[in-house]
Amino acid sequence: MTVSDKLLYGVIKPGRYTNHEWQAIHKDWDTTPIRVALAYPDLYEIGMSNLAVQILYELFNREPDTLAERVFCPWVDMATALRKANLPLGTLESGRPLKDFDVVGFSLGYELNDTNILEMLALGGIPVLASERDDSHPLVIAGGSAALNPEPMADFFDCFVLGDGEEVVPELLEVIRGWEGKNKLSRAEKLKQIAAIPGVYVPSFYRLEYLPDGRLASFNPVNDYAPPLVKRRLVMALPPPMVHPVVPYMEVIHDRGVVEIQRGCSRGCRFCQAGIIYRPVRERPRGEVLEAVGTLVTNCGYDEVSLLSLCTSDYPGIEKLVGDITQRHPELAISLPSLRLDSFSVGLVSSLPSRRRSGLTFAPEAGSERLRNVINKVVSEDDILATAATAFERGWTGLKLYFMVGLPTETMEDAEAIVRLVGKVQQTGPKGRRPQVRVSLATFVPKPHTVFQRVAQAQEADINARCDAIRQGLRRHGIKLSWSDPRVSLLEAVLSRGDRRLGKVIYRAWQSGAVMDAWSERFDFAKWQAAFGECGLSPDFYARREREPDELLPWAHIDIGVKPEFFARELRRAQEAVPTADCRVSPCNACGFEKSVAQCKQKLGKAAK
Ligand code: SF4
Repeated sequence: MTVSDKLLYGVIKPGRYTNHEWQAIHKDWDTTPIRVALAYPDLYEIGMSNLAVQILYELFNREPDTLAERVFCPWVDMATALRKANLPLGTLESGRPLKDFDVVGFSLGYELNDTNILEMLALGGIPVLASERDDSHPLVIAGGSAALNPEPMADFFDCFVLGDGEEVVPELLEVIRGWEGKNKLSRAEKLKQIAAIPGVYVPSFYRLEYLPDGRLASFNPVNDYAPPLVKRRLVMALPPPMVHPVVPYMEVIHDRGVVEIQRGCSRGCRFCQAGIIYRPVRERPRGEVLEAVGTLVTNCGYDEVSLLSLCTSDYPGIEKLVGDITQRHPELAISLPSLRLDSFSVGLVSSLPSRRRSGLTFAPEAGSERLRNVINKVVSEDDILATAATAFERGWTGLKLYFMVGLPTETMEDAEAIVRLVGKVQQTGPKGRRPQVRVSLATFVPKPHTVFQRVAQAQEADINARCDAIRQGLRRHGIKLSWSDPRVSLLEAVLSRGDRRLGKVIYRAWQSGAVMDAWSERFDFAKWQAAFGECGLSPDFYARREREPDELLPWAHIDIGVKPEFFARELRRAQEAVPTADCRVSPCNACGFEKSVAQCKQKLGKAAK
C-alpha cells in the first residue's frame, strides 16, 4: 500500500503498511488478467504469521495469468488517517484499492475479527453488504475455520469456500478464466457458476425461516444451483510444503519458518473444533519435512523453524525427525507447538539443542479427572505430576498451564480441583526451590461442529465465582493467574453459533465504531449490547441456551464429514464422564469418514476382523 510517507510518519508501526519484503511477489497489473486481493482481518504482524495466508499467496501467484496481493486490517490510527486523506485501503504490492480487484478473499479464523472485515470493505471502496454490490464490484469470498458457520457473516460475503482451499483455488480460477472477455456476465450468473464448485457455499441462494421463539424452522435452496448440503473440501495428500514465504521486515508474532508436518488430530477432545474440522489426520512424509526445513533455511535465513500440527508429539517418529533436523542444522532452533501432556513430550523438547530451558506449556484444561473425562482430555493426575517432575528434573524452570472455566457439568468442586492440582505441580519442583508456575484461564466457548455444539455457555456469575475461587486459591501458592474477560467469550460464543440475523447486529456494532474487538484496549461491550438491543436480539439466546437434539442448527447445511450420530454418541459419553480413545491408537470410532477415507476404511476393516 504505497501510502504516502506523510501518512506513514503519522501512525504507529508504519512497517505494517510498507512493501517489498523478501520474496514478496510483484506482477504487472496491466498484463495479468486475474487479480486477487488476499485480505486478513487483523494486523499485519498477526496475518503474516498465518500459514494459510502464505499458502494461498503462493498458490494464486503460481498461476501465470493471476496476481495475488496482500492486505491487512489497518490499526485505528491508519484507518482514521486514510479516511481523513480520503484515500482507499489498498494492497501492499501495488497499492491498488480493493474495489479494483476481481476477487477479494478473506481468511476467517476468529469471530472477534468480524467487524474488521466490514471496516476493510468500506475502506477499500466496496459496499459492505453483498446485496448492495453490482457487476462492477469484486467477488468477496471467505474461507477458514470460522467460515464453517458462515451464517452470521452471510450478509457481507458473496460466497464461502469450505475446507481445504488448496483444491478449490485451481477450480475457482478455472471458472474465473471462463469469464474473460465476457464483461457483460452478470454477478448472478457468476455466482451460479461458482456455486457449482464443490465446497463453495453461496448464502444468497438459500431461504431461511424462523419459529416464533426464534429458533430456525427451515433452511432451503431457492434454485437448482444450490445443493441442500455443502460438503467441506478435503485434501487427502498434503500439498508440497510452502518454502518461499514472504519474510517480513518488522517483527511478527511468530517470527520463524513453518513446516506443516500433519493436518488434523484424532484425540477427540470434545470442546475442540480444530480436532473435528481438520479430520482425518493427514501426515507429511518425514523426508518431505526434512527437505522443506533445509529449503526454508536456505531461502529465508531463518534460525528457527516450527514443526506445525495440532498435536506434534503424535506425529509418527517425531523424535527421529527432530534428531535428523538437529543433525543437519545444529544451529537451528526447533519449535514444537501443542505438545501432549506426558513425559514423552518432555523428553522430546529436552532432546532439542540445549537452549535456556525457561518455560514449557501444557493444557490440562480441567482440574479434576472426572471433568477431564467429560471433555475427553484423557490424562491422569499422576501423568501430569510425573510430566512436571520430569520437566523440572531436566532443568526447565517454569511451567505454564492452560485451564478452561465454564465447561459442561463443571462444579465449584472442579474449579477448586484446579488449585489443588497446580499446588501439587508446584511441589514437584526441585527441593528448596519453588519453580515458576503460571496459570492461564479461559472461559469455555461452545463451538459449532463439536460434541458440545448444543450446550449452553455458563452464566457470567458462575464463571466469575469460579475464577475468584481459583484466583484466591492460587494466591495462597503465590501463583499468578491470567484469565480472559468473560464478556469477550460471551461475544465469541454468540458469533460462533449465531444465525443470519446476527448480520444486522455486526453491522450496527461496526457502524457504532466497534473494530479490532480482539484487542482488549479496543473491545467495547457496550457497543455490542446496544447493537443487540437495536436489533431486538439477545446474546443469551445464542450463547447460553441449550439446543434440543432435534433443533435445526444454523450450520446444519455445512457437511464437514463428521456425522451427527457421532456427536450425539460422544455427548452422551461426556455426560457420563466416559472417555473415548484416540482412533489413531485404538479402533475406529466411526466419526463419519469410515466409508469415505481409505485409511479409515482400513482401520474399520481391521477392527471388523
Ligand atoms: S473414521 Fe474412524 S479412523 Fe477415521 S477419523 Fe473417524 S474415528 Fe478415526
